[in-house]
Amino acid sequence: TDAQSGGLRVRGLRVSFDGFTAVDGVDLDVPAGDLRFLIGPNGAGKTTLVDAVTGLVRATGSVHFGDRELLGRDVHRIARLGVGRTFQTAAVFEELTVAQNLDIAAGAGRSWWTLARRRRRLPDEVVAALDTIGLADRADHLAGTLAHGQKQWLEIGMLLVSDARLLLLDEPVAGMSHDERDATGALLETVSRDRTVVVIEHDMDFLRRFARTVTVLHAGRVLSEGTVAQVQADPRVQEVYLGH
Ligand code: ADP
Repeated sequence: TDAQSGGLRVRGLRVSFDGFTAVDGVDLDVPAGDLRFLIGPNGAGKTTLVDAVTGLVRATGSVHFGDRELLGRDVHRIARLGVGRTFQTAAVFEELTVAQNLDIAAGAGRSWWTLARRRRRLPDEVVAALDTIGLADRADHLAGTLAHGQKQWLEIGMLLVSDARLLLLDEPVAGMSHDERDATGALLETVSRDRTVVVIEHDMDFLRRFARTVTVLHAGRVLSEGTVAQVQADPRVQEVYLGH
């Protein structure tokens, strides 16, 4: 259906905090299968925009994912509609194994401990996710022992098994080594083959290599949009970045 192959369509999005308007009338179209990067100076409204899409803050306007209106729904309902999100600090269950984390995210959480004892093999979607995120050889390791980058991949894997079709990732390569960035870029390319991915990211080198399209936010508004080359050549973008 439209919702399953959904793109994101935002119209007139507005978020205010005590009279301060953090997102000030944003229109945004992210077609299904895009790997979109969201950039802009600190305070531009990037996180608040993602918060509004995922139901964490109240907003006005409209946000469609596929044919579903997301505004006005609560966080859990929006997640169940296939919208997944990561934060800058990975939220994994440190005392559980990598496979158990994925199993829980896949919906087997209620009885994973019984299943884990009885089961000889992992569910197919968990095996597939382990492979996609490059942690197959870490399946039995405690998530708490993973390197920072690996935790980010596990979190993305948890979104994959939960069948998120729209992934909103907040600075996924912050603090990563060069090799980890490469692997993350490759992972995002794979994931966006059949999902829509929106990434908040500051790392211009990473952007140049992996962004399909870029939206530049400034003062709660869309300042510029296009390919990396197009937004970099945009005088308004140069002014905002050099002016700081
Ligand atoms: P970005 O992610 O682009 O750095 P944010 O969306 O975090 O920007 O913030 C946009 C603006 O909204 C900032 O000026 C920030 O201080 C303000 N803001 C964000 N969240 C809140 C909040 N909960 N209460 C008040 N102001 C907020």
